[in-house]
Amino acid sequence: MFNVLRLTFYVIPTESYGGDFVIKAKKKPERKCLGCGEMKDKSRLIRIVRSTDGKVFIDRTGKANGRGAYICDSLDCFVKCRKAKRFDKAFGLSVPDDVYASLEGLINKENG
Ligand SMILES: [Zn+2]
Repeated sequence: MFNVLRLTFYVIPTESYGGDFVIKAKKKPERKCLGCGEMKDKSRLIRIVRSTDGKVFIDRTGKANGRGAYICDSLDCFVKCRKAKRFDKAFGLSVPDDVYASLEGLINKENG
């Protein structure tokens, strides 16, 4: 009687929890770069935000409220975005030149 109880107690946890660990494996948050279109680790992208009052700015904290768009810290991606006005399309407004200027400065600085 005691042997049976100990056996069932031992078997049930391994069988019912065994599969769960695979399903719950954590994924790193990824976002799509508007320049190259690749999915990348969110922490490696630069976030640009359009706030609820219509201002566009570079969000260095990654936590500002508003609609966000992401870009690699790569000059190639920046040029593509600027030429094709991808931020304008993503935000539904015309992004001011000074935002592009400070973004370009930030990317240049981070690349060396
Ligand atoms: Zn990119």
